[in-house]
Amino acid sequence: KVRVRFAPSPTGPLHLGGVRTALYDYLFAKNQGGEFILRIEDTDTARFVEGAEDYIMEALEWCGIIPDESPKHGGKFAPYRQSERRDIYDMHLIELLKTDYAYIAFDTTEELDEVRKEFEQNGEVFAYDHISRNRLKNSLTLSKEEVQKLVDEKVPFVVRFKMPVDRVLNLEDIIRGKSSVNTNTLDDKVLVKNDGMPTYHFANIVDDHEMEISHVIRGEEWLPSLGLHYLLYEAMGWERPKFAHLSLILKPEGKGKLSKRDGDKFGFPVFPLNFTDVETGNISKGFREEGYLPEAFINMVALLGWSPANDREILTLEEMAAEFDLNKVHKAGARFNKEKAEWFNSEYLRAKSDEEVRDLLKNADGIDLINCSDEKLLKIISLMKERAVFVKDIYNDGKFFFTSPTEYDEKAVKKSWNEAAAQVMNEFTLKLQDSVFEPEILKQDIHDFAESKGLGMGKVMMPLRLALVGELKGPDVPDIMQILGKEETIARIKNAVN
Ligand code: GLU
Repeated sequence: KVRVRFAPSPTGPLHLGGVRTALYDYLFAKNQGGEFILRIEDTDTARFVEGAEDYIMEALEWCGIIPDESPKHGGKFAPYRQSERRDIYDMHLIELLKTDYAYIAFDTTEELDEVRKEFEQNGEVFAYDHISRNRLKNSLTLSKEEVQKLVDEKVPFVVRFKMPVDRVLNLEDIIRGKSSVNTNTLDDKVLVKNDGMPTYHFANIVDDHEMEISHVIRGEEWLPSLGLHYLLYEAMGWERPKFAHLSLILKPEGKGKLSKRDGDKFGFPVFPLNFTDVETGNISKGFREEGYLPEAFINMVALLGWSPANDREILTLEEMAAEFDLNKVHKAGARFNKEKAEWFNSEYLRAKSDEEVRDLLKNADGIDLINCSDEKLLKIISLMKERAVFVKDIYNDGKFFFTSPTEYDEKAVKKSWNEAAAQVMNEFTLKLQDSVFEPEILKQDIHDFAESKGLGMGKVMMPLRLALVGELKGPDVPDIMQILGKEETIARIKNAVN
């Protein structure tokens, strides 16, 4: 049975890379008819950030990535929060200590700093490893009695993994293929800290085993830990899952990892939702609040590092799940591109019915639709939808539909308005009295009117647009006229003339 977990640490808001990992975890699980599990890895109390767990859950929900098992949804392997699973880690730790795969180390931070300095003075880099451990204060160098005495005296200690000497490990990754590492290059990682809390490495392995995880799909920053994880599975006598490490998401210019601060720097969000840092009060911008549709957002994220068949670009979550293939995930980093993100949003917006867009618009912030009938609103939407990137653009770029212009753009006035133009517009209102307000008919009327005055179309169209919109922008003038209706159109022209 395929079981895949997303295992974030609540150390801050989920960023774009995290969302992508969760999405690939989900897509792979669903593709295989398996389960997607959310596990919160909160054993690092020093890095815990208030509100981060709720944020992660809300963000996944917004994206439509709904776990089959999670702290909120429960499940047969509950609890799904590592801080609530300490007895399980303790139990397995006893096994590791008994079988000598782990040992107790008493070195204080000061003592370690001392040794580190000595190493550095000799031009060497210090690591707690197969060489240095023989000179340090641990259960490999102290007698049983000394160890017991220190433990009884409640001297703080950590538990370290005893990295075997000079073994070549052959590692396998679904995306990157085979690689190998010599254990002499690896250090004796801490498995349990002096507060009794397991570190990521230990808790992660225990839980992946306990929760029957079949595939570990995660960011490439964990690739250097793969050797240790292989050995931990071996030490516990457990079958290990299959691994896939995802490449980084790169900055728009392609150089370096997209960082949490890049959002502010480049003027786009790197988080799914707004996140307020309780300590600093700083707000990081989210895609949701910027006006992205969740469907467009996850479609964009999915394609940062994966190409569906036939270069298809627009896919629903279900379609992505049906097609997803880890073997087609790119080895190279994917570059985030703001224009592409906007393109996705406009595509999804265009594909929505006018009624759906209306409901979204009504729920958007900072929008005042009073005095606009439903019928008129739907017409505006149908006209403006094509050129909008965000739902709000329909309102912001179509404000003139809701309120008649009170000011006229200076440049536009210079270009299109003078005494003669005012005269022409005045006469045009007379013609409009008998017009039928259908775009095709209005177009003909404008044409006929211009011809009868011996004027080019622009000489009528431009001042007309200025009078209706307040600037020389917007959709086709006859379309605008139809939506405004005869009375309002004439009123606006008269208003401009005076
Ligand atoms: N807690 C780890 C993180 O936040 C999970 C890594 C993994 O998936 O193994 O990145």
